[in-house]
Amino acid sequence: MFTILRLGHLLSTNPFEMPKCLSCNESFKGRIDKKYCSAHCRTTWHNIQHADRNNMIRNINNILRRNRRILNHLLQQGSSNLPPEVLNECGFNFNYFTYQTTLTNGLINTYCYDLGYHQMPNGHLEIVKRKNYLPSR
Ligand SMILES: [Zn+2]
Repeated sequence: MFTILRLGHLLSTNPFEMPKCLSCNESFKGRIDKKYCSAHCRTTWHNIQHADRNNMIRNINNILRRNRRILNHLLQQGSSNLPPEVLNECGFNFNYFTYQTTLTNGLINTYCYDLGYHQMPNGHLEIVKRKNYLPSR
């Protein structure tokens, strides 16, 4: 009996718990697991989320395109073998690439689309171009 009373007491201490809208941050009546006060807020929240995601994707695509443009520029100039600092100075971002392949000699080709590079034992980067740009599985 005592236990039941205590349990009843615990439940009654929190009878006004209301969900808070993720979008407008207002409390509203409804199931506690509801996330939005209205369809409008739900749409607004989703649009914001997608905008963030789309910006992120656009920014990464821009970095990849810039990397490829730099590799292409250097290749056109005939500078296909150079120290990494040269790419750094051009604004190349080594953190972003589309895929890597390991060559039979152990060197790793790192690609931005069809253009890439591998690091030679002397530390220099050799720029490479791939004819069939889709990596084999
Ligand atoms: Zn709301």
